[in-house]
Amino acid sequence: MQRKIPILGIDFDDISFAAALEKSTAFLKGNSMKTIFTPNPEFILNARKDHSFKEILNKGDLVLCDGIGVILCSRILKRPIKERVRGIDLIKALLERSEKTPFSLFILGSSEENCRMAALKIKENHPGTNILGFRDGYYRSEEEDEIIDMINKLSPDLLMVALGSPRQEKFIADSRLKNCRCAIGVGGTVDVLSGNVRLAPQLLRKLGLEWLYRLICEPRRAGRMIRLPLVLLYALHERIWG
Ligand code: UDP
Repeated sequence: MQRKIPILGIDFDDISFAAALEKSTAFLKGNSMKTIFTPNPEFILNARKDHSFKEILNKGDLVLCDGIGVILCSRILKRPIKERVRGIDLIKALLERSEKTPFSLFILGSSEENCRMAALKIKENHPGTNILGFRDGYYRSEEEDEIIDMINKLSPDLLMVALGSPRQEKFIADSRLKNCRCAIGVGGTVDVLSGNVRLAPQLLRKLGLEWLYRLICEPRRAGRMIRLPLVLLYALHERIWG
């Protein structure tokens, strides 16, 4: 088992991208349902206020560090995490691998248009991925039973849940959801896979500045983002006062 590194209440796996990919590939063919979460600073802040969310994250089979803010916190706390492993990169790598290691997929979440486009593109570019179905994430709460039933019946190897956090992690942890090999909360990944939303340019990604790119593209996020540097203050506080 790889080392866990606690960062402000969340236990992150200290794992390289390559090892995370191996592990996720194995999850797709396992006998019991595995969960993958990719917390960023916003998750940490939400988990501080929502104990059930924190518990869900800490029960994840892979808890990956998705966000430069988490890496910075780990350095402030002198418990540096090996590598940042972004959910979108992991998904792309699994899709790339599906030629050799085929798997079935269900996509839940994002708009209907983006879901359909993402499914189409995956089908075209990754024929090793068998898309069992997709469903947009703008359904009424009364429809959730039916959706979970459908997923259980289809029994996908991989369930991608893009409902925004913490809703997607709570959906994955729902005890009614039983019949998939691996479920992962993917945030805006379906939008990117659809081709309708672009990733930040590589240079900005390398510099850990994709939050800036996202802010410029979606200024309505400013209200949410303004809280994020708070995690650095919490980390400093923990380092100094314990
Ligand atoms: N989303 C959804 N239903 C909702 C709210 C959000 O399907 O009720 C989708 C949204 O379309 C997007 C994804 O959830 O594809 C992630 O949302 P957001 O960008 O807010 O989350 P983040 O990536 O910041 O976690």
